[in-house]
Amino acid sequence: MKETITLKTTYVVDFDGTITSRDITSELAARYGGNAYIEIENSYRRREMPIQIWLQRIVKIFSVDLELLLEKALEWAEIRPGFDKFLESACESGRAVIIASDGLGFYIEPILEKYGLEKQISFIYRNETYINKSGKLEVRNPHAHRICTVCGNCKAAHVVKLKEEGRSVIYIGDGSNDRFGASWSDHICARDELAESCREHSLIYSQWTNFYDIIKVESPELSDRTNSSLCCPLGRGVKT
Ligand SMILES: [Mg+2]
Repeated sequence: MKETITLKTTYVVDFDGTITSRDITSELAARYGGNAYIEIENSYRRREMPIQIWLQRIVKIFSVDLELLLEKALEWAEIRPGFDKFLESACESGRAVIIASDGLGFYIEPILEKYGLEKQISFIYRNETYINKSGKLEVRNPHAHRICTVCGNCKAAHVVKLKEEGRSVIYIGDGSNDRFGASWSDHICARDELAESCREHSLIYSQWTNFYDIIKVESPELSDRTNSSLCCPLGRGVKT
């Protein structure tokens, strides 16, 4: 008789525009980046600039300090409906919740703490924004791919690592750059630009509006996404 092993499902969740209803990194950049922001943003939209470079250039043009940026982030952050109930449901079913963010990242823990949500998160993969020795803002990408520069945080690598541990992954996101991590997952919950991207790349997804929709998603089977995935986190990164 074939033995069946029960595998725990893990959620990999984007932060900006997913857990929060607004993309705080983009809003800070638009508010405090001045005219230079428009130029950087247009270049990014034309896909001439990867997100790693976008982040590095954005922190250089901020007209204010980190303290004010954090104050604004806390003020603007709204948690998407159902996120607290989703965390409770994940906890009850023994499913870990991991955040993977490719934004400025410094405000994630403070926002979760503000709403009393930090204890239910298993791990946070995020970029680090800090003041360097010369007193200037700088961003570091500790979870970037070694060669590929498309993403600042290689979410696909986190998804692949979880699957190697035998967990099936439900990916939840909203942005076009989520497509790489999502393409490796076993079930994609997509909205906005990620949903558009899934359609463009023929990736099956379920549309979501708020976290009550995510609670209803059943544990997927662990599946091989080698052929349909959009990048190779264990290889050279993005597929050409
Ligand atoms: Mg997002």
